[in-house]
Amino acid sequence: MSDVATNDVLAEFSGFFENAERGCLAFPCCRSCGKFHWYPMPRCPHCRSKDVAWRAVSGRGTLFSFTRVMHAFDKSRAGALPYVVALVEFADAPGVRLVTNIVDSQQEGLRIGQPVEPVFRLADGRPIVEFRTV
Ligand SMILES: [Zn+2]
Repeated sequence: MSDVATNDVLAEFSGFFENAERGCLAFPCCRSCGKFHWYPMPRCPHCRSKDVAWRAVSGRGTLFSFTRVMHAFDKSRAGALPYVVALVEFADAPGVRLVTNIVDSQQEGLRIGQPVEPVFRLADGRPIVEFRTV
């Protein structure tokens, strides 16, 4: 991937990371039709409007799906095994499902529909959003 492509991708997600730096979870929401979407796009995928803005949500979500990773596909994660990759959905952001990690939880006891909340941290100066069970 070229630097230009990388910067373009980061620009689309800038609102997500700017909010995460402040400990806030936000997703793109269309001001014309009022619907959320994920991932970020310059036009609303529901009505094609360009009037899209980042809207903060509570951050409370539920587990839509998850898996425990037992093999380090990325060598940088070898020390973190096993870890949980999950798809989290949000009652106050219908249609959004965020791929994330579940941390600080009993991995054996996870279940679909379980309530989760965000955990914000910085890694190498970049905001990271993960979730833990509540
Ligand atoms: Zn729309």
